[in-house]
Amino acid sequence: MSARDRALILGGSIAGLFAAQALAGAYREVLVVDRDALIGTTGLRRATPQSFHAHGLLARGQQAIEELFPGITDEFAADGVPVGDVGSDLRWVINGRRLRQTSIGLTCLATPRTVLEDGVRTRVSALPNVRLLEHCDIVGLTTTADRRRVTGAQVFHQADARSEVLTADLVVDATGRGSRTPLWLSELGYQPPAEERVKIGLGYATRNFRMPAGLLGKDIGYIVAQTPSHPRGAVLARERRLPDGSDRYVLSLNAHAGDHPPADPAGFLEYARSVPVPEIYAAVRDAEPLNDIQTYRFPATQWRHYEKLTAFPAGLLLIGDSVASPNPVYAQGNTLSALAALALRTQVADGGEPDPRRYFAAITPNIQAAWDVNLAGDLRYPEIEGRRTPKLRIASAYINKVQRAAAHDDALTEAFLRAAGLVDPPQALFKLGTLLRTLRHSVLTEPRATQAEVR
Ligand SMILES: Cc1cc2nc3c(=O)[nH]c(=O)nc-3n(C[C@H](O)[C@H](O)[C@H](O)COP(=O)(O)OP(=O)(O)OC[C@H]3O[C@@H](n4cnc5c(N)ncnc54)[C@H](O)[C@@H]3O)c2cc1C
Repeated sequence: MSARDRALILGGSIAGLFAAQALAGAYREVLVVDRDALIGTTGLRRATPQSFHAHGLLARGQQAIEELFPGITDEFAADGVPVGDVGSDLRWVINGRRLRQTSIGLTCLATPRTVLEDGVRTRVSALPNVRLLEHCDIVGLTTTADRRRVTGAQVFHQADARSEVLTADLVVDATGRGSRTPLWLSELGYQPPAEERVKIGLGYATRNFRMPAGLLGKDIGYIVAQTPSHPRGAVLARERRLPDGSDRYVLSLNAHAGDHPPADPAGFLEYARSVPVPEIYAAVRDAEPLNDIQTYRFPATQWRHYEKLTAFPAGLLLIGDSVASPNPVYAQGNTLSALAALALRTQVADGGEPDPRRYFAAITPNIQAAWDVNLAGDLRYPEIEGRRTPKLRIASAYINKVQRAAAHDDALTEAFLRAAGLVDPPQALFKLGTLLRTLRHSVLTEPRATQAEVR
């Protein structure tokens, strides 16, 4: 085997498929292994129940996915996926106020999560050197005798209860939040990564509805952010045209700290009524539901700091939720996965062997930017435990002012959406021009913020 004979991807969900695409040009074979069905599957998979719930793709994620799969945005658009401008085709509501609806030149690719995964899997599995191995449990890693190099993985075929060792020059763990790499590292005598966690107690409830075409004009949907003053959030988004000319919409309701939306239809509607956008309740009250309500509990955000480890075996990398699993309401997971896949592609582009240290260093700034957004947002809730440094308190209070002022100012809407979309780092909100505009609005235009709003 040459050093570029086989790459083995553990997990064939979004992050695993992105990794396969990134590596297909550099390895003779890319083998993607998953315990779930993959081949010919469409729609919801058992292993990824989160796919039922509304998934946004950040603007930076759309750019990264387009870089990985050139032309994919147009393909999705041709298949009926709503595509528009992040600023002018979405209705953003924060602290009960609508942000200015203004074009900011960033693309909103409004794929439901199942559609994104199906489209990406179709593209990846069409590559001649990519093979999907389904219904196969990953049991552990194999290494050289001195344990300094990972040489493959031990798997268990569900169909015939057969164990097998799959050898590889590179193993990429994309098994999601439940990744067992920390445990496997310990068993191999390595230090596992330190893990940062914030218990956010997030709950989702979601249902699809049939709605009249043109319900929101040209707009794709509402994104109602949760804040301490308005803690219940929602995403109402157009998904696709139905054969009878009506539209299929998704409504996800969500809130932190245990205030979970219920799964019974009456309770779900009541909860929808409590979201600070009466139009959402009005839209779903009499709409025809297309399925049952499903709920999801997301107890804690987590970031495993692989970049800080001083010893790590060669031939092993990680991608996606297995490294960082941020708060779903900020819609960052798929974007971080796509950005990490680009980093992976860069790592193998020079012909050498991927270096874990360089790879983890390359993906850390993006994760850090996302994590900063998480902390600034989540630690505003007094019920959520975490270290509130003076810097974080000031940043949270300032971002709250930017959000309020953005209701009156196109430039601030753009600055905020660029940072929320991970196109600009959060620090960009502190540029002098943005600062002065925010200050001007908070003194001249805005009434004083309530205590809850500045928290
Ligand atoms: C409610 C909710 C809403 C979300 N909303 C958004 C959003 O709006 N925008 C966004 O970008 N992100 C969102 N996310 C996050 C997003 O779903 C993930 O970040 C993203 O899909 C990347 O996941 P992944 O591929 O790393 O892991 P997963 O999707 O969890 O996939 C892991 C895969 O590994 C396989 N696997 C695991 N262990 C084994 C094993 N031992 N053997 C074999 N196979 C195994 C599983 O079968 C699965 O296919 C949301 C998450 C949740 C929970």
